[in-house]
Amino acid sequence: MNYDYIIIGQGIAGTMLSWFLRKAGQQVLVYDDALPNSASRVAAGIINPVSGRKFETAWRYDTIFPFAENTYHEMEATLGITCFHERLIHNIWPSAQMEEAFKEAMKTSPYLLGPAFVKGANIQLNTLLPAWRKRLNVKEEHFHAAAINITATGIEYKGINAKAVIFCEGAQSPANPYWRKLKFLPNKGEALIIKAPELKTSNIIKKGNLTIVPMGEDLYWAGATFSWDYTDALPSETAKATLEASLQTIPHEIIDHIAAIRPSGPDRRPLVGMHPHQPHIGIFNGMGSKGCSLAPWAADQFVKHLLEAAPLQQEIDIKRYFNALR
Ligand SMILES: Cc1cc2nc3c(=O)[nH]c(=O)nc-3n(C[C@H](O)[C@H](O)[C@H](O)COP(=O)(O)OP(=O)(O)OC[C@H]3O[C@@H](n4cnc5c(N)ncnc54)[C@H](O)[C@@H]3O)c2cc1C
Repeated sequence: MNYDYIIIGQGIAGTMLSWFLRKAGQQVLVYDDALPNSASRVAAGIINPVSGRKFETAWRYDTIFPFAENTYHEMEATLGITCFHERLIHNIWPSAQMEEAFKEAMKTSPYLLGPAFVKGANIQLNTLLPAWRKRLNVKEEHFHAAAINITATGIEYKGINAKAVIFCEGAQSPANPYWRKLKFLPNKGEALIIKAPELKTSNIIKKGNLTIVPMGEDLYWAGATFSWDYTDALPSETAKATLEASLQTIPHEIIDHIAAIRPSGPDRRPLVGMHPHQPHIGIFNGMGSKGCSLAPWAADQFVKHLLEAAPLQQEIDIKRYFNALR
């Protein structure tokens, strides 16, 4: 059997890469072992234009956000779903300094609406990913990178031939033999799903490190913790206690406790490109905590690189790690 591309993983990275490859007329086969605690199955899907104590605009946001919004709307129309929700992010100030910093940043940022609102959005990944999966050729099994055979024209895996295989494995990529020398800095995040009938809001609420995102029917996503120091990807009692402490003033019932590893690189930029010594093997990773805003734009850049030989932006090209790969 022949395909143009085999994609490994159908989180938001594999979803966007397969979307743009298919749009360009390519035959795509996806392997996804449907790990229940993959980052895309745990994320709230928030798109926040600003970050940090000075409310600085996120990296390339002016380009990346309109591109992402268009892509999600196009996918909604194709798939007959709703997954993009424009939402205000309502800041509850933890300190007077934060409020002052917001007022200062409002003078220049088009995304800060005052007195405490930010123009944001969230993507309902648990609607988008399954809907797109139904349109894909998917093998629901683990793909073993060590079993790839390099051929004269591409790769062969268990009798299937393709021009190339692209790994969109999220936090599993550091264990992939092809990417051992790339730099990853994954971190763990945990969240609670709560029922809070008194909250009654369609805004995203941000109070210090706690973010609350409406899911409908009085359910809310409340998270997330952030840890580089972890031994597994499972929900932990320590994180649960931290999240519960920050939810103290909100009457709620805990419905679920979820955890996943965010696939990040040390410079917080996507990791995109073909292996320097194996031109039929590629990677699309490093979405960090911003997969929903970064993945559509970065996937489009990668597809133009693959099909039209357009150069990748240096900041996302894995060539920046070439010395480490030698
Ligand atoms: C608690 C938490 C909250 C977050 N909140 C947000 C947020 O609000 N907004 C935002 O933009 N981002 C958020 N993120 C980050 C976001 O989740 C990630 O940026 C994004 O999901 C990464 O997507 P991915 O496709 O690279 O990886 P993943 O989502 O991990 O997908 C990888 C997929 O590949 C499969 N896979 C891996 N290896 C193999 C293999 N060898 N064979 C077969 N299948 C394989 C896995 O099963 C999985 O389905 C959050 C993350 C966490 C943990």
